[in-house]
Amino acid sequence: MSDRNQYLYGPVPSRRLGLSLGVDIVPFKTCTLDCIYCQLGKTTCKTLQRKEYVPVGDVLAELKRLLDAGLQADHITIGGSGEPTLHSGIGRLIEGIKKITSIPVAVLTNGTLFYLPEVRADCAAADVILPSLDAGDQQTFDMVNRPHREITFDRLVEGLCALKNEYPGQIWLEVFCIDHFNTDNPQLVKIASAIKKIRPDKVHLNTAVRPTAEQGVEKIAPDKLQAIARQLATNCEVIADFVPSRCGKAADEISQTLLSMLKRRPCSLNDVCSALGLIPNDAVKYLDVLEKQGAIWSENKQGKTFFKAH
Ligand code: SF4
Repeated sequence: MSDRNQYLYGPVPSRRLGLSLGVDIVPFKTCTLDCIYCQLGKTTCKTLQRKEYVPVGDVLAELKRLLDAGLQADHITIGGSGEPTLHSGIGRLIEGIKKITSIPVAVLTNGTLFYLPEVRADCAAADVILPSLDAGDQQTFDMVNRPHREITFDRLVEGLCALKNEYPGQIWLEVFCIDHFNTDNPQLVKIASAIKKIRPDKVHLNTAVRPTAEQGVEKIAPDKLQAIARQLATNCEVIADFVPSRCGKAADEISQTLLSMLKRRPCSLNDVCSALGLIPNDAVKYLDVLEKQGAIWSENKQGKTFFKAH
């Protein structure tokens, strides 16, 4: 087996999970949704088909190798570049991870398949599940999340309620706020009512801090986001921006490599991913931190974004 990781990436800094080792178990943009705010671009395979997209044994072997080499992380996070519950072996994967490490397992999911009892059972052994809810009714769900035709808003909420009733671990629900789409008062009242039904342990508010699939997805100002948080639920918090000092050594090294690479030549997101072995989802996190620090900037050339360093 090659030393290069095929299914694991990071550990990378996560605003919600600390230092997070990502596990990517479905092909790029294989998803049940096509969210307008998706930072990975448009969904190329919108599907409900559950199957063994990548061999569970290979993913576990890769993880074992990293653990033997002294991996440190706050969470092992199953997620990545599509919807991970589409992988029919996710239950075996979680069990396998639990056998070889005590690092908590998180599942980063859009939550749309929890209406299926087998998906709830598959995820039961995870320590924390992080699903999404960005709408309070079918019309907004269609606009923001552009679901597969068999996934309805009611099905999503029913699935999340069933998960809450059966699942012993933590459920941290994320609401992604987009101005002019889901932040007017009637919509917020509906989202709050759905949250009341679902009863998640925490609610996290997010907004578009990175480039998204569609133009016009606008970031919400922090004070407005705080006001929305107060309106939605008592356990609702705005996800704080990532603090670089929390990254740890592995993340620092990736940032330094990225910076020296960008000093030598401008790179697109794809260039960064291939050079550093990151998936786009995580490459943008490093780029975002460096951009906020003023160490790099981006330029648009013939419709393509390039990153440069001083
Ligand atoms: S944001 Fe997540 S759920 Fe939405 S399209 Fe992208 S990968 Fe799928």
